[in-house]
Amino acid sequence: MTELTKTLELKLVDPNAHKRRKLRETRDAYQHALQDAFDAGCTTQTEANDVVVNYDLSGYAKNALKKYVPQLTTTTYNAGDLHDDHPVRFTNEGLRLDHHPENAIEWYVKIPHHEDYHLWMPAQPNPDQRNWLEALHAGDAEMGESRLFQRDGTWYLHVTATRDVEDRSEVSTDERTLIGVDIGEASLVTVCHRDDHGSPTHPELWADEGKTVRRLRKTYFTATRRLQQRGSDRLAESFGDDLWNQIDDVFHRVTREVVEYAESVENPVLVLEDLTYIRESMDYGEYMNRRLHGWGFAKLHAQIRYKAVERGIPVETVNPRNTSKECYACDEVGYRPKQATFTCTNDDCWVGEYQADVNGAINIADRYLSGESRSREHPNDDDSAEDGAHLTAPQDSQADAETQQLTRGTYAS
Ligand SMILES: [Zn+2]
Repeated sequence: MTELTKTLELKLVDPNAHKRRKLRETRDAYQHALQDAFDAGCTTQTEANDVVVNYDLSGYAKNALKKYVPQLTTTTYNAGDLHDDHPVRFTNEGLRLDHHPENAIEWYVKIPHHEDYHLWMPAQPNPDQRNWLEALHAGDAEMGESRLFQRDGTWYLHVTATRDVEDRSEVSTDERTLIGVDIGEASLVTVCHRDDHGSPTHPELWADEGKTVRRLRKTYFTATRRLQQRGSDRLAESFGDDLWNQIDDVFHRVTREVVEYAESVENPVLVLEDLTYIRESMDYGEYMNRRLHGWGFAKLHAQIRYKAVERGIPVETVNPRNTSKECYACDEVGYRPKQATFTCTNDDCWVGEYQADVNGAINIADRYLSGESRSREHPNDDDSAEDGAHLTAPQDSQADAETQQLTRGTYAS
């Protein structure tokens, strides 16, 4: 087991004038309290508390200050050098994360402003950190301290997240069992791998779950439209949240079962389609039409990724071009007379009709070996130890930098 820590960056999206003012108020109050406690030379949490208690800040910010100020005053930090670009720190639990996949901006964060007052704000994550957000949202990663700061006029949040992962075994590729993972509409997820003789074996399809998700999505659209027409926006919203939560529950169960499937074979690798290619290969209209399918896609990917890493199972991605149209046995491009059926048009090939999703899954697994596989989607994956190196938050202090260095060293080993 290794403890993995990552700093997630969230960009706050277009706060209105009111919210911008509130963010500035929080920052100013925080910086005054920090300066005050620093000037007073507080070396213990109790001393710092006596100073910061008078400021109009949330308990999360005050608690962070109580811990932080003694760190500053008792370490190498040079008195008088306290610069004014300190990010506002909140202790863990100060922040809340919410996901609304039906909205154009999917993620929301709750930022504590002062006692009993907080702001919910839409936030754009770094797409490569999507799996961490899914883990946090599901309670499978633990949220640590967060920092709020402004850079070039834009507000950002840095959130620390921690989770335990299994160490992965280092066996070579030819000893690996490649499991193709096909995500679709009819069967929500399909997995398959080849046995020692190269024959496809143990296909598993989550077709009922595909049906359930389609039904829930349809209900969402018809019901929320009806409620909105009656002017019940609030009802529509809570009903919608409930439906998305049900979909998310299905996703979590399926992705857990996918990882269990992987654990049942020797030296597994999960092979997924590279989402970047999928976005590039669609034109805008198609992209918008499939956006809802698309978020399901991204969400399933992110969940599979973080759950696989937790169990020490590697995940690779491949270019998905034609993986649903080629015959797994002869590589000829065939067709799908029905959603669930693939037909090979090569007269010399023994494959006539085949389950289309299973055919797709095997093609995805095979592509990893054919050289078209690249993990360009996630150049710095979870197990990279250099996390934090590219962070752009204003540097708090020498002391802080040293603390970070220490922590980083711990999980680099
Ligand atoms: Zn064929």
